[in-house]
Amino acid sequence: MAESESYPMNGGDGTYSYAKNSIYQRAVSNVAKDMVDEAIAEKLDVKSLTSNSNTLRIADLGCSVGPNTFITMQSVLEAVEKKYLSHGLASKVPEFQVFFNDHGTNDFNTLFASLPHDRKYFAAGVPGSFYGRLFPEFFLHFVHSSFALQWLSKLPEELLDKNSQAWNNKRIHYTSASEKVVNAYATQFTKDMKMFLNARAKEIVAGGMMVLLVPGCPDDIHHSQLSTALLFDFLGSKLMDMVNEGLVSEAQVDSFNLPVYFPSPMEMARLVEENGCFDIEIMELLDPRSNMNYAIDVHALIMHLRAGLEGIFTKHFGSEIVGEMFERTSQESAELSCLLDKSNKRNKLFVVLKHR
Ligand code: SAH
Repeated sequence: MAESESYPMNGGDGTYSYAKNSIYQRAVSNVAKDMVDEAIAEKLDVKSLTSNSNTLRIADLGCSVGPNTFITMQSVLEAVEKKYLSHGLASKVPEFQVFFNDHGTNDFNTLFASLPHDRKYFAAGVPGSFYGRLFPEFFLHFVHSSFALQWLSKLPEELLDKNSQAWNNKRIHYTSASEKVVNAYATQFTKDMKMFLNARAKEIVAGGMMVLLVPGCPDDIHHSQLSTALLFDFLGSKLMDMVNEGLVSEAQVDSFNLPVYFPSPMEMARLVEENGCFDIEIMELLDPRSNMNYAIDVHALIMHLRAGLEGIFTKHFGSEIVGEMFERTSQESAELSCLLDKSNKRNKLFVVLKHR
């Protein structure tokens, strides 16, 4: 089992819950859906996958509480079923088993209570970090993970060491920080991704497929131009405003960093190649907004950020300060909107791998 810190999304179904505020992730998953369907139709050899058993096992890694995970799992299942039917294998359509994975601290109660009644699969929850082994050998046929792999297993220690060149004072992320800070994050991502790929290489059957969707960074773009990085910077600047007003101590900001990293296609490809167990079928950056025919709603964007990050911020700063930080961010949403308009939008890394 891998050791990994956990930062659960807001549970339940209240105002700031992940369940109510993950439309943004859902919109991106919708854009990816057609590509996943196509990959299954063209590249998944369903006949050989289930030649020894009548069960097709799917896992969603970093599933949170839904409803996104339910929508995606249903869609994967339908695409696989369609493939059997289109190949004249109606009598061979397997039974499906879906494993919902997240940290043990995830709100699995809400997840289980909201499982779709009309689901056509057996459901199971799997607690634990996906940076370690979660399943027996050669067990899974299809693995999905969206908006989860950007979370590092832990923060690189040197960021908090005053004597290190990677000490990240006055900031809460590597956006606009020194190269040493960026490198510390990148090194941690490399370590984590290696563990992730090693574990999946053991768990996925030959011919099995893995789809990863993760906020990323184009190879030719500086990370400070990414919309999410800009959002993080904005939150950091609100905290620094509060430092200047004496509401928060500077040491508190210095000792906090978001353990989130946005990999580039080149980085991801290198790690997959080094692992050597998977073929890269697709590696592409998506621009989800190109398919949305409505303007980005900054308020919804702040709410989605709050649903995902409130937990980790509150653990460090306490709920009053964090409430104030988000409140100030909302009040300045016009300024934020201008910043985001100028940011790079082709930044969702979509990867389809096939186990050799
Ligand atoms: N896949 C869903 C939820 C994304 S939220 C969607 O697309 O909407 C990201 C989730 O990843 C969180 O619930 C978080 O707890 C989980 N996560 C982060 N690191 C993890 C790890 N190492 N192991 C398992 N889950 C992890």
